[in-house]
Amino acid sequence: MLKHLILSGLSFILIASESAQASNTLLTQIKKSDQGDWSVEYKAAEPIEKIVFNNSPNGSRVERWSSDSDEFEIVYQERQESIHRKDGKSFTTARFNLTPTYTHLPKNYGPFSPLSDGGMIIHSGRFFACANVCGKRENNWQFSLTVPSDEHIILNGEVLKETVSWSDRDSGKSIYTGKQKPAEAAGTLSIIDQGLPPVIRQSLDKNIPKLMLYFEKNLGKLSSNYKPTLFASYSNRPGKSTQGGVLPNQIFMHWDTDDLEEKANNDDFLKSTLKTFAHETAHFFQSTSTFDSTAEAWVHEGSAELFAINALLELYPDTKNYVEAFKAKSVDQCIEALKTLSLAKASENGKFQMHYHCGMLIHQRIEQALTQKKTSLTLYEIWQEYRENVVAGSTSGQQTFLNVVEKHTTTELRLKIESFINEQHAAPALAVNAFFE
Ligand SMILES: [Zn+2]
Repeated sequence: MLKHLILSGLSFILIASESAQASNTLLTQIKKSDQGDWSVEYKAAEPIEKIVFNNSPNGSRVERWSSDSDEFEIVYQERQESIHRKDGKSFTTARFNLTPTYTHLPKNYGPFSPLSDGGMIIHSGRFFACANVCGKRENNWQFSLTVPSDEHIILNGEVLKETVSWSDRDSGKSIYTGKQKPAEAAGTLSIIDQGLPPVIRQSLDKNIPKLMLYFEKNLGKLSSNYKPTLFASYSNRPGKSTQGGVLPNQIFMHWDTDDLEEKANNDDFLKSTLKTFAHETAHFFQSTSTFDSTAEAWVHEGSAELFAINALLELYPDTKNYVEAFKAKSVDQCIEALKTLSLAKASENGKFQMHYHCGMLIHQRIEQALTQKKTSLTLYEIWQEYRENVVAGSTSGQQTFLNVVEKHTTTELRLKIESFINEQHAAPALAVNAFFE
């Protein structure tokens, strides 16, 4: 139901927020001072014992958040971070200074993606917190954000000044703060870090609109009240992480490195970056509502990989050799991983990459079946039908997806896919060959 609301537009979201408001009385105020310091203040309407974070992928807030009054502390216990007063008394307000640098969070988006000119992309989901306890169904978060008067904010496709307020939900959103004016092409707003090497900047400028049109043609237009926004940020400081992702109406990419100038000379790196852009744009058109549990991530990750290389081959024929090498490497990586565990167990064993490699193989197998059946139906149309089913209320994930696949292919293929996912395979290379027979 909640997933349905995302696609149904603003009026539904506002209604949902009002009805949920009574259960979460915390107000989250994020501020960037004129000196460039970042802070967050939580305010409760009634005295509370503690503030509990909705999501604690690790305990890094203990190090990265500091209380200037020294009255408060953040405790990380049983995989959950929470804010307490050191003297155990109840409170209504708690304020923390934040560390505004990129930090890698396992399977979560980092709170800060700095741009090289001092701008910032913040991810609101990192600040979701509740008074005393977060109920399982808690999905309403009240925010305000204040920035210096010479900066602006891009929120929900709009450029705004000084202080903005909003109700947030689900996985949160990316919000830009800084001085850069967004560019607009093919109906998409973009903030592209001007410190990125020109060749990457130009690739984003030119190729994202092209990819948006490609996927709109193949996966259908998404309805939305907001202009989609692309954020691409580059910290340009020593680091190793690259992060890409999608949230409703948003695509973002962040390079937390300082070696892009050097890498930009490498043709393979540029092609793989283009593939990443295509992968994220494919996710954008899959719609975040179809994203399934991490155990079944092969459905959206595997298809995004295949859709990305399909797009590359159609739009950029000179990527052919890169794509062939990429496909071969993916098969090898899937086979290697299958030696130790099944795809069904990949996520719980920290082998998330298997969803990309083996997931792409499964989607290639479905494409093969559609071709053999001589139907004019494409994998994109299978995906559209799957997306429609999810929007109409079916659970996102493997079952609903394979129901659609089975409907347009055979029960035999469905069973074959299911056993490929669930079995560990004594001889994975043979199993992959047999899978395609
Ligand atoms: Zn992905």
